[in-house]
Amino acid sequence: MTTNAIEVENLTYQYGELVAVDHISFEVREGEILGFLGPNGAGKSTTVKMLTGQLMPRSGKAFVLGTDVTRYPKQVQAQIGICFEITNLYEKMSAIENLKLFARLFGMQDFDAEALLQRVGLGGRGRDLVERYSKGMKQRLMVARALVNRPSILFLDEPTDGLDPVSSEAIRNIILEERERGATVFLTTHDMHEADKLADRVAFINQGKIVALDSPHALKQRYGKRALKAEVALPDGSLVSREILLDHQNTAQVVSKLFSEEQVVTLHSEEATLEDIFIHLTGRGLA
Ligand code: ATP
Repeated sequence: MTTNAIEVENLTYQYGELVAVDHISFEVREGEILGFLGPNGAGKSTTVKMLTGQLMPRSGKAFVLGTDVTRYPKQVQAQIGICFEITNLYEKMSAIENLKLFARLFGMQDFDAEALLQRVGLGGRGRDLVERYSKGMKQRLMVARALVNRPSILFLDEPTDGLDPVSSEAIRNIILEERERGATVFLTTHDMHEADKLADRVAFINQGKIVALDSPHALKQRYGKRALKAEVALPDGSLVSREILLDHQNTAQVVSKLFSEEQVVTLHSEEATLEDIFIHLTGRGLA
């Protein structure tokens, strides 16, 4: 039986008159990577803040690792790791000092900062002051800091936003390693490729509401259009594309006509992207 790491019911948050998170309900299964996908201002960070005990919901329930986070935030915080968009590292301290300070806050003995830095690709740079780190290095350090207490749930808010491909890949690999270790990962992003690559399931959030939640594969099956795309050469040498819808009563004839009457140069199946599905469901893109 799968147990849930997070259970949310009718969770709502308002900033004054603005309803930022609007009665959302969902579960995150233990050991899964849940991609929380939505455009700027959709309510992703506000949701994470409520789930990590940093904001008190206006109404609704949030159980994290079986504990009501609104009542026992400290108990939850001891078991989770949080990496937020905005860097809040001690710039005048070294990376090792930053990690050790954090380990002390968790009351951890025998903490090996070097080994953790090695894991995030910062081996050998641990004694440098953080102010001398690049943005990608700081972001890796933030991820390392979120791992200090070997969390059962890792909350990552846009962890690869604005990073170079090498740093992004390093962080994605850590996310996968953490799932291997058995951790649950709550990953907010507006990068649909990242969500598609990493997430076991994705939740689409728009204007504070969850509009879909399922595996990327199931969403594509449900909302995507099944089609073939052919590139054909015309007699004058120019190339044009043809789209052939599958599951249509004429599909077989259209495919047969294509091959008998036209010069097919390339043929591939078209699959809806998460972005296409998001637009289909909300009328707006993720960017
Ligand atoms: P982004 O991808 O840009 O980080 P998000 O999906 O995380 O966006 P939130 O930061 O949760 O979105 O914001 C949701 C809504 O709440 C937005 O309309 C935002 O302007 C508003 N909001 C967020 N923080 C505050 C605040 N401190 N005071 C007032 N309004 C806020």
